[in-house]
Amino acid sequence: MSQKSEQGTLYVISAPSGAGKTSLVAEMLKADEKLGVSVSHTTRPMRAGEQDGVNYHFVSRADFEAMINRGDFLEHADVFGNYYGTSQVWVRETLAQGQDVILEIDWQGAEQVRRQMPDCVGIFIVPPSPETLKARLTGRGTDTREVVERRLNEAADECSHAGEFDYLVVNDDFAVALADLLAIVRCHRLRMQAQQARYSGLLIRLSERH
Ligand code: GDP
Ligand code: ADP
Ligand code: 5GP
Repeated sequence: MSQKSEQGTLYVISAPSGAGKTSLVAEMLKADEKLGVSVSHTTRPMRAGEQDGVNYHFVSRADFEAMINRGDFLEHADVFGNYYGTSQVWVRETLAQGQDVILEIDWQGAEQVRRQMPDCVGIFIVPPSPETLKARLTGRGTDTREVVERRLNEAADECSHAGEFDYLVVNDDFAVALADLLAIVRCHRLRMQAQQARYSGLLIRLSERH
């Protein structure tokens, strides 16, 4: 089988807000051109520095609800009082083109995706301590004190679902966490079943007597 006809792998990445998943995923994309990230739809207000269509597709609640009713989402959830959802068509088409896809979604969305696409690979990212999480969320400077408080209150709930994922990455030193994430992707590509499909011709030739 050629690389092109191979189905891509779906990576589902979750973490408490502020653990560093968006920053880590941005660096993964720069390091590996076979990786793409799904741009979610959300009803939350745009932060300073965010761009519609790049960080998220920012939509109204009415538009989001119309999309739910049309079945446009692979998964959707209410997170911190806002809707977030993943486009069904984009994810399926991109995987069918052989591209690996990352979803940065909450645990409720991860649960829905796991049910529909059991071959997906789940990765959970945690900060090295609750104090560090608070410092990062506050230091990011993108959210009001109220929003930060709400996100910190929900961090314990999100973390209680860590055991439902395949891999756990601790984001203490950024470079180490990035290397861990890239190692997970690399290991996954080297699994026997995937390699046998890529190298079937080679394996046949090598198992012939010469
Ligand atoms: P940040 O992760 O702290 O930068 O905050 P965001 O506002 O970008 O995301 C808020 C929450 O929504 C996080 O827990 C994300 O994992 C989750 N989220 C983002 N996009 C999606 C999505 O498409 N579907 C679901 N289910 N959750 C999402
Ligand atoms: P999330 O997407 O999980 O909410 P972000 O990627 O926005 O998290 O990261 C939260 C903040 O923490 C950002 O200001 C980011 O620059 C910072 N950050 C992320 N990882 C680290 C790290 N390993 N060490 C120090 N700061 C970090
Ligand atoms: P933020 O509003 O800070 O960008 O994201 C807050 C949380 O929403 C993050 O933890 C992120 O994982 C989650 N999130 C973002 N997009 C989606 C999505 O499409 N689906 C789900 N379920 N969660 C999402």
